[in-house]
Amino acid sequence: MTRLLLCGVVKPFGIKDEITEPLCTMELLNNQVTREQGIHSPRSNNPSFALYLMAENIQVPVTVLDFPTWEEFTKEIDSGEYTHVGISFIIPNVLKARRMTRYIRKHSPQIRILLGGHGTAIPELQNLVEYDDICHGEGISWLRRYFGEDPDRPIIHPALPSSINAYVYGAPIPIKGGIIIPGVGCQNSCRFCATSHKFDRKYTPFLRTGMDIFQACRKSEETLGVDDFGMMDENFCRNPERARELLDHMEENNKAYSFAIFSSAEAISKLGTDFLVRLGVNFLWIGVESKANLFEKTRGIDLNHMIQDLQNHGITVLASSILFLEHHNKKTIHEDIDWAIDLKSDLSQFMGLGPSAGTELYKDYEAKGKIIHDIPYQRKHGQDEIWFRHPHFTLPETAGYLRDAFIKKYHTHGPGVLNMAHTAIKGYLKVKDETAKRERLGMKWDPYTLKYVPGLNAHLDTFMQLRLDCMRRYALRFRPVLKTTLKYAPNAKAAAKCLEVMELYRRAFGPMTLVEHMRSIAVRILAFREQRRIQRDGVVMRQPPTSRVTYLDRSSEYYRSEYGVAAVHEEEDPGNIKIA
Ligand code: SF4
Repeated sequence: MTRLLLCGVVKPFGIKDEITEPLCTMELLNNQVTREQGIHSPRSNNPSFALYLMAENIQVPVTVLDFPTWEEFTKEIDSGEYTHVGISFIIPNVLKARRMTRYIRKHSPQIRILLGGHGTAIPELQNLVEYDDICHGEGISWLRRYFGEDPDRPIIHPALPSSINAYVYGAPIPIKGGIIIPGVGCQNSCRFCATSHKFDRKYTPFLRTGMDIFQACRKSEETLGVDDFGMMDENFCRNPERARELLDHMEENNKAYSFAIFSSAEAISKLGTDFLVRLGVNFLWIGVESKANLFEKTRGIDLNHMIQDLQNHGITVLASSILFLEHHNKKTIHEDIDWAIDLKSDLSQFMGLGPSAGTELYKDYEAKGKIIHDIPYQRKHGQDEIWFRHPHFTLPETAGYLRDAFIKKYHTHGPGVLNMAHTAIKGYLKVKDETAKRERLGMKWDPYTLKYVPGLNAHLDTFMQLRLDCMRRYALRFRPVLKTTLKYAPNAKAAAKCLEVMELYRRAFGPMTLVEHMRSIAVRILAFREQRRIQRDGVVMRQPPTSRVTYLDRSSEYYRSEYGVAAVHEEEDPGNIKIA
C-alpha cells in the first residue's frame, strides 16, 4: 500500500559542521531582521507549513516529520512503512538532503524519493542528490496528480501555529498565533525573486475568497484558540477584493482577528491605512529594496510618509532592502543603507543580492559568467558573502557590509522589540482618539470607498471597539519586557526611547498591575540567565522541536501525533486533538 513520508531536513541548525553553517538557521527574525541585536532579538521557529498543507490535501496515508534529528529520520526510514519519501529543502540545506537521500538509497532502495522546495532549482541537483522525481511548482496539485488523485478537489486548510519555540529575552512567549496560507507565488516577477519564479511567476490561490479565509481563521480559532494570524502570502493586498470581503465577514460575525501580512507598497497604497487598521493588520512586511526605485512596486510612492502613517496607526513595519545591487559601489551602498534606515521602520531586513537558481537574475548572471560556483551551498542564504562577481566589492568584504548595516540600524533606532512596543502603544492611543472623534461626529465606515464618511447621528462603531480591544491586548503583550529592554539598552538614545514608551503605557493603562510586575521580574531573571549564556557561548541556539503528525483516514479529522507541535496542542487544548 502506498504510504508517504513528507519531511524537512534534519537538525541541528545554525552550527558549524560539514553540511551547515552558523548563519544557516531555521529562524527568521534572529537570522535576518533583528540580527546583531543580541539579547533583544526575539527567537522562534516556524513549522514547515507546506508539509502540513500538502499532507492535509492528499488521500494517500502520510506522515509529516518536521525538524527531525538524524536518529528520528533514520528510524522512520528503517520502519519499512513507506513506499515514498518527500524531502523539502532550500538551497543552503541541499547537503542535508543529500545525506538523507543517500541513507534511503542504501538502506531502503525500494523507496521512491520525491524532492520539493526551492532547493530543487539547483541546476546540478542530479549530481548532488539521489532522487526519482522533483515536485515542480505548487505541491498540492503536483502530489495529487502524482498519486492519481483529482488535482482540482477543494483545498482543506489546516489549523497550524505560526511559530513554535518562541522566546524573548530568554523568556518563553506564551502568546500563540495561527498561520493562514491564502496562496503561493507572485505575479510581480521581480527578477531576483525565488518565490515568484518557483511558482512560474503567477499567483495560485488556495483560499480564493474572503469567506474562504474567514473560515480558515474560524477553524484555527476553534482548534488552536488563536485570533492572531500570520498571513503567508507574498502580496496579500494584491487581491483587494478578497481582503475587503474578509473584512466584511469579520464585521458580520463580530470577529476582530488580527494579521501579519506581506504586501508591496503599491498594493498597500490602493487600500489605505484606515482599511488596514480596520482589517486588523498589526505587522506589515514591505519590500522597499532600494532608494534607486528600480521596481514597479515602489515607483511614485512616498515610502517615508506611508511607513510613518502605518506606524502611527499601530502597524509594525518591516522594510526589506537589498545590498550589492548592480548600481551599488562603495559610496552608493552606504547611501542605500542610510536611506533604508531613514525610513524609520520598526524593523529592517538587509539581504545580499542572491542570484538564486531558477530566477531571471541567475540566468542573466550565469550567461555573463558572473556566478561563482565554488561557494558552499550552505552559505548561499543572503546573510553571508555574495556568490557572484560584483565590480565594486570583493566577496569577503560583502559579509561585513551586511553585518554593519544591521548594527547601524540597531544603534540608530534601538532594539526592534522596543520599536514594536512603541508602534503598538502610540497606534492604540491614536486609533482610540480617532475612533472617538468619528463616533462623536457620526462618521461611518464606507466599505465601497474604504473611507469614513459623514453620517446622520453620533453612534458607536461596535466593530472598531472590538478592534481597539484587540489593539489594547496586542500592545500590552510588550509591557512586561520593557524594564529588561531598558536594562540592556545599547545606548542612551535607546534608553530614553524606552522610558518614553514606558510613560506612554502608563498614560494609557495606569501603573503596572501586580501580574505585570511579576511577569516583568520573571523576564528580567530569565534575561540575566540568557545574557550569561550569550556571553559564554556567543549565541544561544535552541533547536526546533521535532513534530511528527500522521494523517491516516482522510474522511475525518482523525490524526495521531507523537511529539513536537501537536503534543504542545494536546497539552494546551486537549479537547481538540484526537490521539490514536
Ligand atoms: S513583489 Fe515581492 S514576492 Fe512579488 S515578485 Fe517581487 S519580491 Fe517577489
